[in-house]
Amino acid sequence: MFLRELTAAIDHIRGAGPKSIHTLARMGITSVADLLCHYPRDWEDRSREIPLRDYQKHPSVCTVVRVLAHDWFGFGRMKTLKVHVEDRTARGVLVCFNRPFLEKQLVLGNYYRLWGRFFYKYGDIQSTDFEIEVLDKGPPPGDEPDRPGGRLQSRNFGRILPVYPLSAGLNQGMLRRLVGSALDQYAAPLEDELPPGIIRREGLASKARAVRAIHFPASPEELELARKTLIYEELFYLEVMVGKRALERRQGGEGRREERGGPGKTGGFSPLQQRLLDRLPFSLTPGQMGAIAEINRDMAGPFPMARLLQGDVGSGKTLVSFLAALGAVEAGGQTALLAPTELLARQHAENAGALLEPLGIRPAFLTGNLRAAGRSLLLKALAAGEIDLVIGTHALFSRDVLYKNLRLVVVDEQHRFGVIQRSLIMGKGQSSLSSPGKPDLLMMSATPIPRTLALTVFGDLEASIIRDLPPGRKPVKTHLARESNEDKVYDFVRKELAAGRQAYFVYPLIEENGKDLKDAVSMAERLGKEIFPQYPTALIHSRIDEEEKRRIMGEFRRGDIRILAATSVVEVGVDVPNAACMVIEHADRFGLSALHQLRGRVGRGAEQAYCFLVYSEELTEEGKTRLKVMRENSDGFIIAEEDLKLRGPGQIAGIEQSGYLSLGIADPLRDAAELERARNDAFAMLEADPGLLLPEHLRVAQVLSRAPPFSKVAL
Ligand code: ADP
Ligand code: MG
Repeated sequence: MFLRELTAAIDHIRGAGPKSIHTLARMGITSVADLLCHYPRDWEDRSREIPLRDYQKHPSVCTVVRVLAHDWFGFGRMKTLKVHVEDRTARGVLVCFNRPFLEKQLVLGNYYRLWGRFFYKYGDIQSTDFEIEVLDKGPPPGDEPDRPGGRLQSRNFGRILPVYPLSAGLNQGMLRRLVGSALDQYAAPLEDELPPGIIRREGLASKARAVRAIHFPASPEELELARKTLIYEELFYLEVMVGKRALERRQGGEGRREERGGPGKTGGFSPLQQRLLDRLPFSLTPGQMGAIAEINRDMAGPFPMARLLQGDVGSGKTLVSFLAALGAVEAGGQTALLAPTELLARQHAENAGALLEPLGIRPAFLTGNLRAAGRSLLLKALAAGEIDLVIGTHALFSRDVLYKNLRLVVVDEQHRFGVIQRSLIMGKGQSSLSSPGKPDLLMMSATPIPRTLALTVFGDLEASIIRDLPPGRKPVKTHLARESNEDKVYDFVRKELAAGRQAYFVYPLIEENGKDLKDAVSMAERLGKEIFPQYPTALIHSRIDEEEKRRIMGEFRRGDIRILAATSVVEVGVDVPNAACMVIEHADRFGLSALHQLRGRVGRGAEQAYCFLVYSEELTEEGKTRLKVMRENSDGFIIAEEDLKLRGPGQIAGIEQSGYLSLGIADPLRDAAELERARNDAFAMLEADPGLLLPEHLRVAQVLSRAPPFSKVAL
C-alpha cells in the first residue's frame, strides 16, 4: 500500500466528527492521504522540562506548576483572571483572557503540567499563550526534576508535538487527535516509494516511519530524518515527472507528429508574418527576431514546442506571440492565448483586433463572465474552427471548451499560473476535435526564474531571452519622495499632465480600513476634486466589475481619462504608451517585483517617463533597501536577484503565492542540493530504463501507475 492509495474518506478515521470533516474538506483535505500529507508547519518540543526560570533561553516553558493564587483585574466584560503559579525554580502568572472558566479548573494548591510562552511584564513572568493539563497523581512537593517518562509524560506533554496550519473551526488538539488516529489505523503497512538503492545511499527512513515521525517524532533527530526522507521523495518524483516530459519530447513518444514545412525551414518569416511586420511602424528588436526565429523553427519541427520566452517588462513579448499565432494559422490551426487577468486579456484582444484582423485573422475574447448565449455561440465557433485566435483567462480551459484544432497555446505572465494549470493546458491538445498531436506551448514571463527553479519545473523547456528593449526608450527616471514632500510630486505630475501626458497613482489598499494608509477609493476622490480638478480622473481596482473596468481602461487608453487611481491591478501587462508618470504611494509596502512591474507601466513611449516612490515616515530597513534597489536598477534580472537576496529562498515573487510550484514539504531553493541529487537520480533512471521495466524500478513504475495523481505535487 502506498500513501497515495489511502483514498478512504476521512470519516473512516476514528474520532472524526461531522464538524471537523466539514472544516477539513474546505481545506481540501478529504482523504486519509490528504490528512497525512497535511504536514505540520512547526513542532513544539515538550519532551524536556524547561523550567520557568529559563523562560528567556527558550521559546517556551514546559514544566509542572502548583497554583498559588487567583486574582482578577479589569471590570465588567473585560474582567480577566490571573492565576499565579510556581514551579521548582520560579513564580509566574497566567493571564487568562476570555477563559474565566479556568478559575474552577486551576484549583489552589494543586499541580498541573504547563506549556507556555512567557515574557516579562509589570514585574511578573507572564504568559497569555499557554496550555495546562491536570497532573493525575499529585506529586509530593519535592524537588525532583521532571524527566521524559516522568511526571511530564502524557498525551500532550513529554513529547514533540506537531503544530499544523489551521483554518477557522479547527484547533491543534482536534488535528493532533485525528492525525494520531489516522496513523494508528493506516500507517503501519505503508510501503516505501523510493528505490531501495536511494534509501540506502541517502540514509533515509522507511516511508511508514517517516510519515509517523513527521507528525509525532520521538526525538529531534527522528524529525530531521523524517523531513529528509519526505523531502527527497517529493523532489525525486517531481523530477521523474519533469524527466518523463523531457524524454517524451526528445524521443518523440506520444508527442510525435508529422514534420512540417514553413518558415522555420528557411529561417525567414511566413507570408502572414511578413504582412504584419510590414504594417508596423517599427522594426523588430534583435531579441524579438531571435525569439521568433527559434519559435518558427520549433513549430516546424517534429515535436511539440515547449518554449519559455523571457524578457523584461516592455520588451515586446506580445508581438512575438502574435507572430507565432500567425504561424499557427498558416499551419491550419488555432491559437489560445491565456492571460492571468481579465484586464490583460482584454488588452490583448484589443491589440489582436487592431493588428491581426486586417490580415484576415478571426480573433475572439472568452472570459468567465460571458453571458450564456454569447458563450455558447463562441464555443460553437471555436469547435467549428471559425475562430483562429482565442484570448482569455483560465476560462479558456474549462471543460466545455473544445477546439477544432488547437495548434498553439500561449501563456502570458506564466509565473502567475500554477504548475497544475500547466498540465490542464497541455492536456487540452487531446481534446481538439481533429488535432494531429499536442499543441505547441509558448510561455512568456517577465519574472526571471532562479536557475534552480527553472531546472526543476521547466527542466524540459527551451528558453528564448529578449535582452533588449525597443530602441528610443529612455530609462524611467526614478525618484524617492518622503510622504511629507508629496506636494512637490503633485506639482511635477501637474506639469506632465499640462504637457499632455497621463499618470497612474497606485495605492496599497482599495478602501480605507482605519490604518494610516492611503487608499485608492478616497484618493481617487481627492485627486479628481482637490489636487487635479482640471483633469478627468478615474478609479480602478479588483472589485470593480469587468464591464466598468473595460470602459475605464478604454477611456484611459484613448486619453479621455488622464489620471488613473489604482491598486496593483495595473501591475501586469497594462500598456498605455502616453502614460509618463507612475506614482506609487507607500511604496515601501510593495515587494520588489511588484514595484518593477508597476514601474514598467510607464516608459513605453518615446517621451521621458518618471516613477515616484513615495514612502512613509516610519520606513523599515528592508523597505529602505528595496527602494534603493529600485532607484539604482532598471534591469529586471538584477532586481530579481536582489529580491532573492532580500527575501531569501522560498519566497521569490509570485512563486509561492501563485502555487507556481506547490510542494508539500520540499523547497527547491532551500533544498537545492537534494534537488540536484534527486534530479540526477531521476534522469539517470529514465535514461537507462525509459519504460521503467527493470526490477529495481518496479516500485517507481507502480507508484506512478497506481497513483491517483499526487495531491500536493500535481504536474
Ligand atoms: P511586454 O514584453 O512587457 O509584454 P509589450 O508586448 O506590452 O511588452 O510591449 C510594450 C510596447 O512596446 C507595446 O506598446 C508594443 O507595441 C511596443 N513594441 C513592441 N515591439 C516593439 C519594437 N520592436 N519597437 C518599438 N516598439 C515595440
Ligand atoms: Mg506583456
